[in-house]
Amino acid sequence: MADPVLSLESLDAGYNNISVVRGLTLSVNPGEVVALLGPNGAGKTTTLITVSGLQAPLKGKIAISGTPVNGMAPQKIARLGVSHVTEDRSLFFSLSVKENLRLGVRKGKADIETSLKYFPALEPLLERQAGLLSGGEQQMLALGRALASKPKLLMIDEMSLGLAPVIVERLLPIVRSIADDTGCGVLLVEQHVQMALQVADRGYVLTHGELAMSGTSKELAENRALLESSYLGE
Ligand code: ATP
Repeated sequence: MADPVLSLESLDAGYNNISVVRGLTLSVNPGEVVALLGPNGAGKTTTLITVSGLQAPLKGKIAISGTPVNGMAPQKIARLGVSHVTEDRSLFFSLSVKENLRLGVRKGKADIETSLKYFPALEPLLERQAGLLSGGEQQMLALGRALASKPKLLMIDEMSLGLAPVIVERLLPIVRSIADDTGCGVLLVEQHVQMALQVADRGYVLTHGELAMSGTSKELAENRALLESSYLGE
């Protein structure tokens, strides 16, 4: 069986030598959508920025498709096939949609066509400034740009932030299709727990930086009481 696209083993992550994530073991396989859930401040964003190398891990192991990446620079980690859609979407507002998409393309991997296939609504907007797009269009652009690099691992932080639930309901199945069609693994941080579990294969729930529960989406959805108590920190 292929190596997981992401493997975390007993990861401690945090800031100024203080761990806010402790002992996290987690994996994402090719073609899988894995939800990383938990209340505010649980350490979800910290986990993602540590995987992409923006923050050095404090302890434990991180591997991308079997390659250890502890201490590796973010651009090198990106070259291994990691794309990270950050909470703020990190778009260049003064550039056009097309220019933003091209920024996602890595050497020899030009593929804005794939981005437009999944997000055809961007096609008529290609010449428009990214700053003039609606919130939903901006999120499509952020996802499309991440996709243009043909990632092996796509990490999406709070896709739904600032978006109406109806938009989130439209975007999540697209994320599912991306994993199914391209074989990339997706690690999805999402506040809309039930919606996330409808498209994810498995999920992990973090509470106060530690793993509170994990399982298939079906198991987590069926164990609603435990899931809710994790959110309340009980
Ligand atoms: P949210 O949904 O609120 O973003 P989260 O689960 O993503 O929550 P993190 O943003 O990872 O949580 O934060 C985990 C903890 O780390 C919090 O206590 C937060 O205050 C702290 N933290 C986050 N960023 C920093 C930083 N740059 N320096 C110090 N502490 C930080």
